[in-house]
Amino acid sequence: MKAVRFFGHKDVRVVNDIERPVPKGDEVLLKIGGAGVCHSDLHIIDEGTVVGTVFTLGHENAGWIEEIGENVEGYKKGDAVLVYGPWGCGHCKSCQQSKENYCDHQSEQAYGGGLGLDGGMADYMLVPSSRFLVPIYDLDPVIAAPLTDAALTPYSAIKRSLHKLMADEYVVVIGVGGLGHVALQILREISGAEIIACDVTQDKLAFAKELGAAYVINSKDADAAEQIQKITGIKKAKVVLDFVGATSTIDLGTKVVSLDGDLTIVGLGGGHYQYSMNGLPFGVSMTNPYWGSRTELMEVVGLARQKKIHIEIEKHKLDEANEVYDRMRQGKIKGRAVLIP
Ligand code: NAD
Ligand code: ZN
Ligand code: ZN
Repeated sequence: MKAVRFFGHKDVRVVNDIERPVPKGDEVLLKIGGAGVCHSDLHIIDEGTVVGTVFTLGHENAGWIEEIGENVEGYKKGDAVLVYGPWGCGHCKSCQQSKENYCDHQSEQAYGGGLGLDGGMADYMLVPSSRFLVPIYDLDPVIAAPLTDAALTPYSAIKRSLHKLMADEYVVVIGVGGLGHVALQILREISGAEIIACDVTQDKLAFAKELGAAYVINSKDADAAEQIQKITGIKKAKVVLDFVGATSTIDLGTKVVSLDGDLTIVGLGGGHYQYSMNGLPFGVSMTNPYWGSRTELMEVVGLARQKKIHIEIEKHKLDEANEVYDRMRQGKIKGRAVLIP
């Protein structure tokens, strides 16, 4: 079968000679409908966040069940499902609570398809346990694949701050890409706060307005923080969601977040922050959330089935993977690119 393989630093190749896996026990073989292209892949490919192993990329996956192992119950051939991405041990307390994104053993084991183990940019993908499947019912797996990360990650980040996102507050979203464009819609649908969106191109800012941002600011402007403070006034922004995570965006967040606010850094842009006593308003919680839980993914499916969130999708063939990654490096993708076998 065909697969998009990571061979090492800046070396991604589409190969045709991968053997189709056979599921055993609780494993499931999925016929891939779509595999989303996440910016985290670029951190792997260009910056070496996963090293020393060759594997198939793609950690945002959806498809139809092709074959099940002898111990799988509750699923049958043809069922449309998402693959929950962070594969935990299944036994620790976090895993038992469905938060496999915070599994105790995260630092010790290869952690998820497309992140060291074989992922979904291929004709078929082996899922190691039926526990990682989430049914999508009438949703199309091609369109639904990015729900597993581009929607789940912002959903989980927003939920942890939801009690602060009331109608008299402001929320700042930095980066209107794959994750950010869904974050805007989730905020619009489940929170009351007024949304201020930041990106670096006019196209992305216009897109943000369509998706529910009341205000848009180009974060390249030297006075971006002052522009935001002019909108929020002395209250400042109760929550800042940074989907870039560069030093400049973290710095912007520290300048606009309010007393007792949340500064949530989702982006893995390699930024630095130096704590100092006067650097943040009192009471600010700074967090670096990772992905979301299995049950939160079920809630995300609910939002999609109710048509409250819509993922803007560019469809591409597996053979086009390297071109798509290049477009992503240049910030040219609107919404999410999905590779379709
Ligand atoms: P993307 O490439 O689709 O979008 C990034 C967006 O940020 C683009 O619109 C780009 O124009 C914008 N941008 C770049 N620099 C900016 C700046 N200085 N100010 C404002 N906007 C800027 O990326 P994505 O797939 O949405 O991922 C975003 C980040 O989140 C990546 O670093 C990715 O690795 C990370 N991520 C983290 C998690 C997690 O669990 N923590 C999960 C998925 C992705
Ligand atoms: Zn991702
Ligand atoms: Zn665990």
